[in-house]
Amino acid sequence: MPEFKRYLVTSALPYANGPVHIGHLAGVYIPSDIYTRYLRLKGEDVISVCGSDEHGVPITLKAKKEGISPQEVVDRYHNIIKKSFEDFGIAFDIYSRTSNKTHYETASGFFKKLYDDGEFIEKTSEQYYDTQEQQFLADRYIKGTCPKCGYEEAYGDQCEKCGSTLNPTDLINPKSTISGAELTLKETKHWYLPLNKHEPFLRKWILEDHKEWKPNVYGQCKSWLDNGLQPRAVSRDLSWGVPLPIKNAENKVLYVWFDAPIGYISATKELTNDWEKYWKDKDTKLVHFIGKDNIVFHCIIFPAMLKAEGSYILPDNVPANAFLNLENDKISTSKNWAVWLHEYLEDFKDKQDVLRYVLTANAPETKDNDFTWKNFQARNNGELVAVLGNFINRTLVLTKKYYDRVIPLPNKINEGDTAVLEGILKTKKDIEENIEIYKFRDALKAFMNLARVGNKYLAENEPWKLAKTNPDRVRTIMYVANQITAALAILSEPFLPFTSEKLRKMTNIVDAKWEDVDLGITKPEHKINEPELLFEKIEDPEIEYQINKLLKTKENNAKETIELKPVKETVTFDDFQKLDIRTATVTEAEKVPKTKKLLKLTLDTGIDKRTVVSGIAEFYKPEDIIGKQVQVLVNLASRKLKGIESQGMILMAENSEGKLCFVSPEEKFENGSAIS
Ligand SMILES: [Zn+2]
Repeated sequence: MPEFKRYLVTSALPYANGPVHIGHLAGVYIPSDIYTRYLRLKGEDVISVCGSDEHGVPITLKAKKEGISPQEVVDRYHNIIKKSFEDFGIAFDIYSRTSNKTHYETASGFFKKLYDDGEFIEKTSEQYYDTQEQQFLADRYIKGTCPKCGYEEAYGDQCEKCGSTLNPTDLINPKSTISGAELTLKETKHWYLPLNKHEPFLRKWILEDHKEWKPNVYGQCKSWLDNGLQPRAVSRDLSWGVPLPIKNAENKVLYVWFDAPIGYISATKELTNDWEKYWKDKDTKLVHFIGKDNIVFHCIIFPAMLKAEGSYILPDNVPANAFLNLENDKISTSKNWAVWLHEYLEDFKDKQDVLRYVLTANAPETKDNDFTWKNFQARNNGELVAVLGNFINRTLVLTKKYYDRVIPLPNKINEGDTAVLEGILKTKKDIEENIEIYKFRDALKAFMNLARVGNKYLAENEPWKLAKTNPDRVRTIMYVANQITAALAILSEPFLPFTSEKLRKMTNIVDAKWEDVDLGITKPEHKINEPELLFEKIEDPEIEYQINKLLKTKENNAKETIELKPVKETVTFDDFQKLDIRTATVTEAEKVPKTKKLLKLTLDTGIDKRTVVSGIAEFYKPEDIIGKQVQVLVNLASRKLKGIESQGMILMAENSEGKLCFVSPEEKFENGSAIS
């Protein structure tokens, strides 16, 4: 492994069209923050850069919808996002944005250099043009019928119904989403980055030289490369974005995928005049933290851009995470299926570290993972409160009680004590090894294990029982427990920065560094400060409140998406009169064996007793419906279902989710009463 003199850590630029949620935090920002804090604590030369991605079509669409300017949209969300990161202790050295001047200069300078070097291909093609609005339309501005599934609201780049990737020209009856007008094809010129030209280099660089990348990242790159790379347009016909710095390119801007990663460079420039040291010196280790949806941009396209430019280094690693789901459903901004960071802090004030802890312990490092409120509560109560908090509190409170907050001089340190003390160094090494290969879950596990060891040590040695009879032994026990507490104060910093700060104050080792983690951090005579509680139990009603909030979201979404079936063809009164519908009572009910949906019912129709098989077993239990009155179509031709002769059909109402319920008379009615 090559040695590096300094580190440049980048975190995916969040898109400024909405606030950030737990999925963002778990996927990108907590891992990058753990990594950066760890390196800083070790005294490494490291900078961490990020910023808002403020260009692209969704932002212009949102602006148009709300009747405000794109700048107003990005100003709003940039500030919300920036504050959320600050509130959660995500310690970037700079959080910038791509709508600022430095970025415009950097991005257009980058384009110009590649343009002058002949690194682009110029191509004229036909694209859809809205004659009413007098502009070319990007993919998301075009709607039409999906050629694959017939969905009428498919976008120019994707059908959200069947998930197919589309080109605008694939759509049947394409229309402008702005004016509603039909579209005409018109010629337009664009510049393309010939990714195919860089393919041989990318193959060697990734597939041979970076076999250590995470399997999900390496695998996705390999599949892209094996499918063959195509030239990719770097410009668009839009008014919102970085204008092309060349002649005859009016109303053309850089495609957002091209300008966004350059945002990392712009942010570094804003941070330090020494920016080139971080971007152009081979002794710098560049690490991109991203989510899995960004792998191709950071592993293939951005490196191809950097290579084409010629003076930049390439990333050493791109530790992309998979996605975090919420209560078993995909997190979705548009469906409001998320835990928003700013809302979390309103409900769980000062509990940033609890969320950081749970998201790290459940991080989607190798595959998609799930966040549930029950698990959040269980980890808080069972791990942070019962293990880490309990151990530290006992240690500090007893130190205050027995020694007036002064670390005691140990007496004889026995084998058991030594084993526990040596656990400190082993833990430190475990954490280092795991963080350095981006296994943050395992690193956190190692950290918590030290707290478990300490908790067990106190429980087994019971200093509170020996205090009167064997004070010499108690001095040793409390000395050992204090060493573990001090180690936890330092080792917790990458994962739980707020807790670490409190703990450092309590143990009076505010300035301690990673290298100070040793067998004897707080020496005898060292005076600690007043202990306070680090964590508190989260009670059931708080969790129920969160779960109910999500249930409400689900209900609201269901209401919005109800698609009522169109009214059927007109029938005459005589047609209706042909149907003989009667009130009947269910007298017997049982499940039809080996089926999920069918119940066999015996009905008293007033006219006769008959058997009807009905597909309602998912909604009604047999024992619950005996005695129930229903409406039944009695002159329906009988038919056999699973070998049972079904004589008629019970009327059911069906909602948008396919749920069924009986259509029953409002009051008890005679069996055989006819519907008319
Ligand atoms: Zn479709």
